[in-house]
Amino acid sequence: MPDCLFCAIAGGEIPADKVRETERTLAFTDINPQAPVHVLVIPTAHYADLAALAAAGDGLLDAVAAEAHQVALGAGIDKTGYRVVFNTGRDAGQTVGHVHAHVLGGRGMTWPPG
Ligand code: AMP
Ligand code: ZN
Repeated sequence: MPDCLFCAIAGGEIPADKVRETERTLAFTDINPQAPVHVLVIPTAHYADLAALAAAGDGLLDAVAAEAHQVALGAGIDKTGYRVVFNTGRDAGQTVGHVHAHVLGGRGMTWPPG
């Protein structure tokens, strides 16, 4: 997909702090972290959003979810807990039109804290 930031990262044209790679997915550190652990997991192929990824129906959404958990394991936050977020569409504040799962943790994620 031309002019897609995350396709460019997946293709190696734009650098990123890669955390994990599989045949069909890439995990890299968010450039503007909102928590001590903030990693994005993407399919390397272009899907605009969660709906498009779910519609692909070829196990890729499962692979992205499984990789989110692997990221949490690697960061040592699987026991303390973590949040996985797919911002989807305008009202959710999706700013990059290549589906990505945010993996967030390393601090309390609830508000108010508790
Ligand atoms: P969203 O708002 O859900 O679309 O999330 C997009 C995320 O991509 C934001 O959290 C940004 O900080 C992050 N981001 C934007 N550009 C880059 C980049 N070059 N490398 C890593 N993360 C990025
Ligand atoms: Zn893309």
